[in-house]
Amino acid sequence: MTSSCAWRRMGSKMTDTAAPPPRIHPFERANLGKAPFRVVGNYVAKYQACPGAPIQPGAACDYCGTGIMDVYVVRSADKREFEVGCDCVARVRQECAGTDFEREARKMHDEINRIKRQAKHAAVDARVARVAALVEAHREELAEIVQPARYLGGRDQSVLRWAEWMLGHAGRKGKVEVCRRIEAIAEERGWGPAADQEVNTMHLDAVMMDRNAGGQ
Ligand SMILES: [Zn+2]
Repeated sequence: MTSSCAWRRMGSKMTDTAAPPPRIHPFERANLGKAPFRVVGNYVAKYQACPGAPIQPGAACDYCGTGIMDVYVVRSADKREFEVGCDCVARVRQECAGTDFEREARKMHDEINRIKRQAKHAAVDARVARVAALVEAHREELAEIVQPARYLGGRDQSVLRWAEWMLGHAGRKGKVEVCRRIEAIAEERGWGPAADQEVNTMHLDAVMMDRNAGGQ
């Protein structure tokens, strides 16, 4: 397609006509290695100066230099590895639109979205498991608390019955609703630090993919 055109142009006026700049992958242009690139892993990097201090990004994006918490490890065709944030992967996908790298960039972005979804689900599942343990440990107290009818389609019931039914039958969204309610009760009654852990449930600590498989 374009190559024969470019070739002809180069052949005829090689010396004085500047050829259009070659299509270079943005990561390649940033000296991060040779295309194609692919995501080979990810991890969460958090930094906290001292207990109670705000949690900050614990890594920097090799492409833009911004601090990042969700770190995606990318490997180039010449086997160099570097780390980027999801924003840059999204940006690179946009930049690659209409180029030879479009498909690859889209694949990388899709893969990152898949990892994010998976991490989010795993975090919710962990939270639900902690809340289920709280419910189990405080059955009697929860049986005494009335759950307002608006949760139950018109019938007042105990929080215990509601929570147990939801944890057994509801989807993730419904289970998160139970988590909020039980965590609030737990905090009110000083049952323990279930809510404190929430910050860590934002992500899986590491969802490493097979970094060695299919190395190109
Ligand atoms: Zn970046």
